[in-house]
Amino acid sequence: MRVHKNKILIIEDDTGIIRFLKSCLAENGYDVITASNGQSAMGIIHSHCPDLILLDLGLPDMDGNDIIRSVRTWTKVPVVVISARSTEDDKAQALDLGADDYLTKPFGTIELLARIRTALRHTRTTAEDDQIALQGVYTVGELNIDYRKHIVTRGGVNVSLTPNEFRIVALLGRHAGQVITYKYMLRELWGPGASSDNKILRVHMASIRRKIEPDPDQPRYIFTEIGVGYRMASDED
Ligand code: CA
Repeated sequence: MRVHKNKILIIEDDTGIIRFLKSCLAENGYDVITASNGQSAMGIIHSHCPDLILLDLGLPDMDGNDIIRSVRTWTKVPVVVISARSTEDDKAQALDLGADDYLTKPFGTIELLARIRTALRHTRTTAEDDQIALQGVYTVGELNIDYRKHIVTRGGVNVSLTPNEFRIVALLGRHAGQVITYKYMLRELWGPGASSDNKILRVHMASIRRKIEPDPDQPRYIFTEIGVGYRMASDED
């Protein structure tokens, strides 16, 4: 039986990093193609239809964010940013443009491979969405989000979220494994006219954590990407 290999396009101009990524991904069963500038990358995305794109933001001929913007007008191919730009604004911008994840250089191969698996699983099968659609639940560890009854339990015990707290947890559960930006959350939860002040999210999150986390200072279920947003744990964590 021929196993389908996922094809990953690396868009990166640093030959050392390309070499490193290429061998790491090939060893782990991926087909790898590369582009060292934005112009050739755009052509390759059209002609080769990769299953996932690893994208450096600092390219010689264009900004990687322009590639995300352009790619998102016609395809949902997962885009994982790998960049030396490490500010909160850089991450939030790329994610809001439609990147699926963001890794700051330097990063370890274990983390890279985990993020790739999550991003592939998400767009391919949307495992969480399927589970939610079929069973009306999302489960990770001892945490269970029941989308029909609108309750969250931990170890079988209802943690008694308020309606707004439930909506926040439910939204993160639908995108488990992915960083969801504050901006996206505010818009999804309170509409396009929502305030851009994420203080309300922080207040709700503090209360949510007291209810769902065994130790709120060491979150196991909802992680904070400081200055960017939140990520619900998935089976990859
Ligand atoms: Ca670069």
